[in-house]
Amino acid sequence: MNQQGLEIYQRTAGRFGREFRYFREVGSTNDVAIAAARSGAAEGLVVVADRQSAGRGRLQRRWEAPVGSSLLMSLLFRPPEPFVFFAGRVTMLCGLSLVAAVSEVSGVATWLKWPNDLIYETADASGGWLKLAGMLSEVVLSDAGQPVALVVGLGVNVNVAAGDLPALAPNAGSLSSLTGTEVSRVHLLDTFLGEIESRYADLLCGADPVPAWRERLAWLGRPVVVQGADGIIQGIAEDIDVEGALVLRLPDGETRRFLVGDLSLRPGSY
Ligand code: ADP
Repeated sequence: MNQQGLEIYQRTAGRFGREFRYFREVGSTNDVAIAAARSGAAEGLVVVADRQSAGRGRLQRRWEAPVGSSLLMSLLFRPPEPFVFFAGRVTMLCGLSLVAAVSEVSGVATWLKWPNDLIYETADASGGWLKLAGMLSEVVLSDAGQPVALVVGLGVNVNVAAGDLPALAPNAGSLSSLTGTEVSRVHLLDTFLGEIESRYADLLCGADPVPAWRERLAWLGRPVVVQGADGIIQGIAEDIDVEGALVLRLPDGETRRFLVGDLSLRPGSY
């Protein structure tokens, strides 16, 4: 593994990262990976950029990152059938791989904020949290409308200076601001791809990432609010079910499932 820079990173073994495309600047790494998938690129392609001019979160919300500060990357998967089942599991194992890689490389313990963010819980009793990374999974369809690939994009705030964080989002955090030292993006990328490699192989052999995901779910057993287009719903974050839906215990004792949609989870109190 080279420690110099992302531009000459290369993996020589395994499925992920042997086909590696680095861009100094790109619109969005997901767009590059989606176009590559449409032109027949093989599973395992990794696209990385030092700057995105049109980085995005869900529903075209912006993903911002100072140049060279972050790990902005997309991975191309070609999951087997049933596609929807495996696509959901792949997104989960990307989150779990990121938790593991962040812990190994920086020592920071992180949690997964359903459905797609990596967060750090601040040590004070305020229930505070910082968003360290976001994930965006997009299904690539054939001309006939069939799913042919899954692109998972990740934006990880690695070496974003504390002073630059508020401009990204009110609760943005970075690995360097938590550790007080610079974190190698190449080391993080290489460790992450190693995790993906083994967890994806396990998935294809029948392993289920749901139990591990549940254990890493932020605010499990604690009050949360789910925010959607038609308002907010309070409850206790009780579980992630077999479909990856969030199960909320409502104040009246009933449970309600939330499938991934335009929903945001936040800590709550009642
Ligand atoms: P959420 O899951 O929190 O609803 P998204 O997954 O849609 O949000 O991500 C986009 C949002 O993330 C933006 O609206 C912005 O508030 C926030 N954001 C953008 N860039 C960053 C960043 N580098 N770090 C943390 N948060 C960011």
